[in-house]
Amino acid sequence: MSLPPLVEPAADLTVDEVRRYSRHLIIPDFGMSGQKRLKNAKVLCVGAGGLGSPTLLYLAAAGVGTLGIIEFDTVDESNLQRQIIHGQSDVGKSKAQSARESVLEANPYVDVVLHEERLEADNVMELFAQYDLIVDGTDNFATRYLVNDACVLLGKPYVWGSIYRFDGQASVFWAEHGPCYRCLYPEPPPPGMVPSCAEGGVLGVLCASIGSIQTNEAIKMLTGMGEPLLGRLMIYDALEMTYRQVKVRKDPECAVCGKNPTVTELIDYEAFCGVVSEEAQEAAAGSTITPRTLKEWMDAGENIHVIDVREPNEYEIVSIPGAVLVPKNEFLMGRALENLPQDKKIVLHCKTGVRSAEVLAVLKSAGFNDAVHVGGGVIGWVNQIEPEKPVY
Ligand SMILES: [Zn+2]
Repeated sequence: MSLPPLVEPAADLTVDEVRRYSRHLIIPDFGMSGQKRLKNAKVLCVGAGGLGSPTLLYLAAAGVGTLGIIEFDTVDESNLQRQIIHGQSDVGKSKAQSARESVLEANPYVDVVLHEERLEADNVMELFAQYDLIVDGTDNFATRYLVNDACVLLGKPYVWGSIYRFDGQASVFWAEHGPCYRCLYPEPPPPGMVPSCAEGGVLGVLCASIGSIQTNEAIKMLTGMGEPLLGRLMIYDALEMTYRQVKVRKDPECAVCGKNPTVTELIDYEAFCGVVSEEAQEAAAGSTITPRTLKEWMDAGENIHVIDVREPNEYEIVSIPGAVLVPKNEFLMGRALENLPQDKKIVLHCKTGVRSAEVLAVLKSAGFNDAVHVGGGVIGWVNQIEPEKPVY
C-alpha cells in the first residue's frame, strides 16, 4: 500500500541546494519534487543516541529542512562505540548540542531545533504537533508507549526501531492507515525481563543497520515514494545476516487505536511499564543500602556475604572487591539458594540495582529477611568509592 506524501513541496531550491542534492535530483522517481518535499519537511528525532546518530546525520545530509532533537542526556565515553554523531571532544557535553554541531557540519541548510528536556506526558503533545513525522530512537518501554500513544492521539505517523545485542527491529506505525505499536505489542514485558542495551550490550554497527532503515522509511513517508514499512515488522539478525518480515495487523481490540479504546488520553507510562516489579520494589523498601554503607561495613569487618548477580562478562570488566559472582538466573531457577551462608548477612548487587532488587525479592520470600541490596550497584560503587575503576 503506497501512501500520499506527508509534505507539500517547498517553492524552490537555491542554486547551492541544486548542486548539493544533484544525486537525488537525477533519480527519476525522486527528482525536484521529492527534494522540495524534504526541504519543507519537519522531522522530530526522539533521542540522539544509537539510533538517533545515523538517522539524524542521514536525514540532515538528505536535505530535511527542519530537524528537531529531543534529548536531555550528556555524552558519555561508553556512547562513542555506536553513537557516531558524537566524538571524543564531546564527552561531558549536552548530546543535543553535540548532535546539532554534527548535523550542521553535514548540512548547514538544516534548521536544527533543540528540545533539551525529557519527553514526558505533559510536553509530548505540544512537541509532536509541530512536526510532520516522528522518528523514535528511544531505548526504554515507558518512552516507547508514550511516543506511540501521543502519535495515535495526534494522528501522526512515526518510524520505530529497536536494537539489542545482534538483533534489531523496525517498523512504521500510523493508526490512521494501519497498526500502531500497541497493536503489535499490547503490553510491555514484565519489568526486569528484557534488559536494556546498558544492561545487555549492543553491537555498535547494529545502530547503522536499523537507523538506516528508519531513515529510508522517513524519506519515503515524507516524499510519498515506494511502499512504506507500515503494517510490516522488519526483523534483522546481524549474526545470521538475515532480514525477515512479519505482517502486523491492526488490532480491532487495541487499547489506543481499536474500536473501543480504553486509553483515550496519556497515562502514567513509568507505572504502566514498571521500572522494577512490584515484588522487587517491596523487597527493596527499607532493604537498600548505599555503596558507602557497604564500604563502611567492609572496613568494619561486619559479618557479610557480598553477591554480584550480574553475568560473568560484566564481572570481568569491573567488580566490587570480595564480591562473589552468582548470576541472577541461578536464583530465579532456585539453584543458588541452597549454597547461601545462613550465618552471614547477604548483600546483593548488580550493575545499577534493578536485577539485584529482583533477586532480593526471591531471597526474602525464601526467608533471608535481613538480606539487602546496593542501590546504584557497581556503577554507584565506582562513582563513590573507586573512581579509578572503569564503568560500562
Ligand atoms: Zn493500535
